[in-house]
Amino acid sequence: MKKKVSILVPCYNEEKSLPVLYEQLKQLMDGHQDFEWQVLLVDDGSKDSTLQVCKTLRQTDDRVAYIGLSRNFGKERAMLAGFDHATGDCLVIMDADLQHPPHVIPQMLQYWQDGYEDVYAKRNDRGKESWLRRKLTLAYYKLLQKSAKIDVLPNVGDFRLLDRKCVDALKTMRESERYTKGLYCWMGFKKKEITFDQGERYAGKSSFNFSRLMGLAVNGITSYTVAPLRISTILGFIVSICAFIYMLYVLIKTCIMGDPVQGFPTLVILILFLGGVQLLAIGIIGEYLARIYQETKHRPVYLISEKEGC
Ligand code: UDP
Ligand code: MG
Repeated sequence: MKKKVSILVPCYNEEKSLPVLYEQLKQLMDGHQDFEWQVLLVDDGSKDSTLQVCKTLRQTDDRVAYIGLSRNFGKERAMLAGFDHATGDCLVIMDADLQHPPHVIPQMLQYWQDGYEDVYAKRNDRGKESWLRRKLTLAYYKLLQKSAKIDVLPNVGDFRLLDRKCVDALKTMRESERYTKGLYCWMGFKKKEITFDQGERYAGKSSFNFSRLMGLAVNGITSYTVAPLRISTILGFIVSICAFIYMLYVLIKTCIMGDPVQGFPTLVILILFLGGVQLLAIGIIGEYLARIYQETKHRPVYLISEKEGC
């Protein structure tokens, strides 16, 4: 019996890219008839006619299935919708904007047939990203690796092939504040790295602006490590010891020299510094508390407004 390969494409405002991507995928599928194929398009509440394009593609080719989410839930949740509905023995995740070249997929399939369960594609370079963004990203991954003790790899994204076992594992992880890149590492399984040259976005612009990336970065840290909480405890401890020593110094100085009036600038600096440290610590606790609050609501991670073929 033929093995079935699902291709999951989360799409947000991709009306221009999708038809071009489909043509490339069609060539791939027609050239590899030894597999059964499913192209699963997840429309993540697009504001343009992406859903309409999905429907048209479905009408022309019944290997295409689509899910329309009820609003924009973000790529991470759109991917979970895809994991839930993919029926393949393996699943390839790729972006709709043609930054992930389909010609890499046969190589992924080859490794999958050799027994690898998570074949991930690593970018050879990060394209036209600014020097600052590059450095910040690398520093972030170092921080995450050190504090979370899981190997989240730089330059590796969601472009990968997952065996059914991995997809089933990911389906069980239903947190709503998701950082799937970390989940791939957390879940383990037999991994294999391949490399690819990332293309330019075919049309439109990236939805991951600075604030969205920051949100994802904070999610990454808070989902995998409580190190910031521990650091704030240690910081609090150090500051308390310093404050205690300084208190003794002021007390003794006042007793011996009897000079209670001076020291206004020191006082202001101390109040501001301690106030800052306290706010920082409360902020860190707040980040974790917010996550607990979100997760205890047990809301569905996404809602579907329509679907066909899956
Ligand atoms: N995407 C999505 N929901 C969103 C934002 C993006 O499904 O809210 C999809 C988008 O259509 C694309 C993929 O996620 O297929 C990657 O998005 P994008 O190209 O904007 O990100 P970048 O390549 O800059 O990381
Ligand atoms: Mg992109």
